Amino acid sequence: MTVELICVGTELLLGNIVNTNAAYLAEKCAGLGLSCYFQTVVGDNGERLGMVLETALGRSDIVILSGGLGPTEDDLTKEVTAGVCKKSLVMHEPSREAIRCYFEKRGIEPTDNNWKQAMLPEGCIVLENHNGTAPGVIMETEGKRVILLPGPPGELCAMFEESVAPYLAGLTSRVICSQTVKICGVGESRAETIVRDLIDSQTNPTIATYAKTGEVHIRVTAGADDKKAAMKLIKPMVKELKHRFGNDIYTTEEDVTLEKAVVDLLQANDLTVTCAESCTGGLLSARLINVPGASEVYKAGVVTYSNKAKRRFLNVKKPTLQKHGAVSEATAKEMAKGAALLTKADVAVAVTGIAGPDGGTEEKPVGLVYIACSVKGETTVKRYVFSGNRGKVRDSAVSAALSLTRSCVLEYFSRVTFGKK
Ligand code: ATP
Ligand code: MG
Repeated sequence: MTVELICVGTELLLGNIVNTNAAYLAEKCAGLGLSCYFQTVVGDNGERLGMVLETALGRSDIVILSGGLGPTEDDLTKEVTAGVCKKSLVMHEPSREAIRCYFEKRGIEPTDNNWKQAMLPEGCIVLENHNGTAPGVIMETEGKRVILLPGPPGELCAMFEESVAPYLAGLTSRVICSQTVKICGVGESRAETIVRDLIDSQTNPTIATYAKTGEVHIRVTAGADDKKAAMKLIKPMVKELKHRFGNDIYTTEEDVTLEKAVVDLLQANDLTVTCAESCTGGLLSARLINVPGASEVYKAGVVTYSNKAKRRFLNVKKPTLQKHGAVSEATAKEMAKGAALLTKADVAVAVTGIAGPDGGTEEKPVGLVYIACSVKGETTVKRYVFSGNRGKVRDSAVSAALSLTRSCVLEYFSRVTFGKK
């Protein structure tokens, strides 16, 4: 079955707001196994919306529209859709009552045009809106389905989860399941190359790669008659990916983030961690501390932005800074060692770099970052050159620091275990 998205709103066309509804809906529909070949943005204009809707109905089984269900003059999605589908709008009493209650609860007097939101196409399925006043609508017309959702993302997402997803899932007896293999420390193009043959020969399951900052996610998706059968198709593919990417896979679980994987790894090995940050200014600590249970492993960290602070708090040597500069392998190393000593942590991660936009030279360009990780006194330093603006460089540095921490801890333990044997 194919689905098509139409997002209505002049402010979307003008670029005043980002079309997050389209991204959300597209991802959800793909997850439900629906193929989406077209997305359109159209302004609050009845004639043009009508044209777009006619076209969509001519080529897709399901059309989802977002926006324009509000009470004002320029909200005309429902009126236009009803016209195209040759349905009349009738007062839907339960929706009228819901609107009355909504305003009563808030102690506000509804205006006349608020009741317009309870005028719905005859014979439609009404979707309750628990976060606003405009009900959603599902219409069936000549074997096609048209779904109208409110524009505000909070209302749209809740309505989709509650009502639309179960409705769409019920249209087909097939279930679609997926599992995501999350990889860190491997660039997107290298990851693609490693799985190219699998992508080229895929049928069921299919695999798709998604690049995230410092990570690549590979989603394996299968369709089958039931969940068990779908998972049975997914399993051998995930096994093959594990074989190809080995330790670079940090999880195959949906809700595990890279920082959670790092915190879990440290906790499992009874290790504490500290961060000494310069250009990332506390972002690395923040990501680690964002993980519930981080207090088991994270005790203290420092942001040492100036050279003076690096010397004072981390004991970075003056000659090191003079000879190599603050953004250097030697400084990163001394920062990690100093932080380990200062906080008595088992693992110390240090980040120093040039986030830009100024401060770059030919030898040391913007985006140059050194990250050091010391595990029980054994220190590894890596050099990176990240692209993008200041924010992107800092985010990339944090992800790289998490990846490096993970790989250093894993390597340390593989060596220690090997040594014992
Ligand atoms: P309302 O009752 O608030 O008027 P509506 O269903 O008529 O809701 P719109 O008027 O089209 O929806 O949009 C309302 C607000 O929802 C917009 O100002 C915008 O903030 C947000 N919005 C609308 N469409 C999108 C979209 N495609 N992506 C992200 N946000 C959106
Ligand atoms: Mg509106």
